[in-house]
Amino acid sequence: MARPEFDIVVIGGGAGGLVVAAGGATLGAKVAVVEKHKLGGDCLWYGCVPSKTLIKSAHVAHAMRHADRWAIPPVDPKVDLAAVMERVDGVIRGIEPNDSPERFRGLGVDVIFGAGRFVGPDAFEVNGRRLTAKTFVLSTGSRQAMLPIPGLAEAGALTNESIFHLREDVPHLIVIGGGPIGSEMAQAFRRLGSEVTVVDMAPRILPREDADLAAVVQRSMVDDGVRFHFEASIVKVEGARGALAMTIRAKDGRETRIAGTHVLVAAGRKANIEDLGLEAAGVQVEKNRIVSDAKLRTTNPRVFVVGDVAGGYQFTHVAEHHAGVVLRQAIFKLFWTKPSTVIPWCTYTDPELARVGLSEDEAKAQGGPHKVYRFAFEEIDRARAEGETEGFAKLVADPKGRILGVAIVGPHAGELIAESVLAISKGMKAGDISAAIHTYPTLASINRRVADQKQKEGLTPTSKAWIKRIFGLQGA
Ligand SMILES: Cc1cc2nc3c(=O)[nH]c(=O)nc-3n(C[C@H](O)[C@H](O)[C@H](O)COP(=O)(O)OP(=O)(O)OC[C@H]3O[C@@H](n4cnc5c(N)ncnc54)[C@H](O)[C@@H]3O)c2cc1C
Repeated sequence: MARPEFDIVVIGGGAGGLVVAAGGATLGAKVAVVEKHKLGGDCLWYGCVPSKTLIKSAHVAHAMRHADRWAIPPVDPKVDLAAVMERVDGVIRGIEPNDSPERFRGLGVDVIFGAGRFVGPDAFEVNGRRLTAKTFVLSTGSRQAMLPIPGLAEAGALTNESIFHLREDVPHLIVIGGGPIGSEMAQAFRRLGSEVTVVDMAPRILPREDADLAAVVQRSMVDDGVRFHFEASIVKVEGARGALAMTIRAKDGRETRIAGTHVLVAAGRKANIEDLGLEAAGVQVEKNRIVSDAKLRTTNPRVFVVGDVAGGYQFTHVAEHHAGVVLRQAIFKLFWTKPSTVIPWCTYTDPELARVGLSEDEAKAQGGPHKVYRFAFEEIDRARAEGETEGFAKLVADPKGRILGVAIVGPHAGELIAESVLAISKGMKAGDISAAIHTYPTLASINRRVADQKQKEGLTPTSKAWIKRIFGLQGA
């Protein structure tokens, strides 16, 4: 049998695919990337980078309006959305060279633009060229599904792919979905001056998180002036961008008409699995999901999946982690390598909500013995100095103190969760975090203070009496 032309062919040059390509080429593999649009994927062009850049401008506008919290005269800034979006574009352009075809070609990667398809279990055809490889990596990502709501598409509904291209004013944005993307965008647009209404079928935002944590974010959004319609189904959308109306139906059947100017669809992502010739490759698909094992191998042992298209947690850091797992298997043949199950994430609202490991609800549902500890940012000196005391940390531990999960809702929660990621990955106990010196005054000390709650539990009146007796103490 002829030797395959490539060691690895990557299909989809986004967050996951590019890590496979760069890592593979650096280790000496002959690699090709097939990309149908532009390198960088959702994260760079339509996801993490633009959303977090927009959120920063929203945060500044909000701080200006509420500057009296820091004893500075407040001002109501006149936000020019077009200028903010130009800044978003500038940040993307600044990062783009890291993901550019020139950079990858410089690493020795064959970058091929086009949409191809498998023509057999070991061959992928693009632009009339047949690529053979020892390993194929499917990293085609996901996209916003257009919901089958009458009039939605005709109304020029926005998705994450179009919203950052807006240059016009957005007087009233109606957001479909109160998940992470919907909540981040709703709050950001509100703070940038739009009226914002969120419509969701669920009874609250961020349904994957414990209700007490999500409530802190929801309260903040209500304070900002975001309006919510929960447990609502959407009947229809009428009109077009600029002047439209959405009719929603509440649980009791009552219909309400919401007038707005723009609609953002932020509910329901769909894996990009169409037109790839998966059948020809022997890659099985079930319920619109590529079938893969715990090591990310599809039903064709030559073909792996990484990132959003793998159908699990849809985050850039997960796609990048998958890439490492697949590289270890493809190059070093370490077929026992599996993705980590310790996966953190963060919703970048204000306050942020970050989590790793089990939530309180999940721990309850699993039924194992566990206890929950909380510590409020109000008690953290740095949070007081910053004027950011909303929120708390929650730690779930087993009876021996082994940490099962940590969630933080509060300032910079996305940064603060990193310590717990390491702790849970290494099977640490709350006592390990308690024993570690944390810089004062930092927000990060909330990690120690919440872990201390577990340690303090051991100090019962009986144990205190014994300590006093043994060491001859005289206090109360
Ligand atoms: C608004 C928004 C905000 C987000 N914020 C965050 C965040 O803050 N943090 C976070 O971790 N994650 C965030 N995400 C999720 C993150 O963007 C994705 O999880 C990540 O991009 C997935 O990487 P990937 O490699 O699987 O796919 P992508 O990075 O999307 O790459 C897929 C690539 O495949 C290409 N492609 C598709 N089909 C084909 C085909 N048939 N042939 C060839 N190429 C193809 C695409 O053009 C694309 O370049 C956000 C997503 C959105 C939408």
